[in-house]
Amino acid sequence: MTFEVREGTFRYGHERTVLQNISFVLEGPAILAVLGANGAGKTTLMKCMLGLMPWTSGASCLDGKNIRDYRRREFWSQVGYVPQAKQSAFAYTVEEMVVLGRSARLGPFAQPRKRDWELVGRALETVGISHLRTRLCSKISGGEYQLAIIARALVTGPKLLVLDEPESNLDFKNQMIVLDVLRRLCAENGISAILNTHYPEHAADIAHKALLMMPDGTARFGGAASILTEENLEAAFDVPVSIRKVELPDCTHTCIIPRGTL
Ligand code: ADP
Repeated sequence: MTFEVREGTFRYGHERTVLQNISFVLEGPAILAVLGANGAGKTTLMKCMLGLMPWTSGASCLDGKNIRDYRRREFWSQVGYVPQAKQSAFAYTVEEMVVLGRSARLGPFAQPRKRDWELVGRALETVGISHLRTRLCSKISGGEYQLAIIARALVTGPKLLVLDEPESNLDFKNQMIVLDVLRRLCAENGISAILNTHYPEHAADIAHKALLMMPDGTARFGGAASILTEENLEAAFDVPVSIRKVELPDCTHTCIIPRGTL
């Protein structure tokens, strides 16, 4: 899988240019973290990248082909989108919510078949929540719900997952569970991921590549370690940053510390 943005530029109507000549290539299987201050254009980038809003100029390409030239169903069976997790009060069980991910394949009125339920079972197993399949979505924790919507994106067998802040609003442990699932999907299942995150340390932890959105609408792209530097992060977030390596029993952890604005 190769996903590429070529000189993507976007402006809302006649307003200022929000995204300026953004270019990156993700050669899978790999994880790309997108970081930037509030208002830097992460949400806009995600929408343009996936063709939900048209680039003012530039293009997104999947496996070398402009995404505009894909049939919608073909594109969305290869790319899974995981929106920000907002638990709904609807009385769906976890497996009913996850089988909705098959709807692009099923057509509007078709009932899920045995094969669809098998894929649901496999996706739930992959993210480690098989035991929750008959629980109501409104009665599971935020971390469990996040895993359920990742499972919903997995049932079409995507090569690439695009996730909007998958670990926001989760406690420490659940953040680690979600990041571990993404790491495992990439290493064991060959599924790439592009995720928006507010946590530079999470990017340093799991991402191979990083795209850092700058205040002027440009972005810096490269290997995560070469992009997540004190200098780059200070320029992106307008706050002094210190980076320290901490040796832990099983790994070296990168601490990225914002030092306050006073
Ligand atoms: P982020 O996700 O990084 O917080 P956004 O992509 O939401 O940033 O917004 C980037 C910029 O585009 C901001 O300055 C925002 O005010 C502006 N913007 C977002 N949506 C619209 C819109 N519908 N019309 C005009 N400007 C917008």
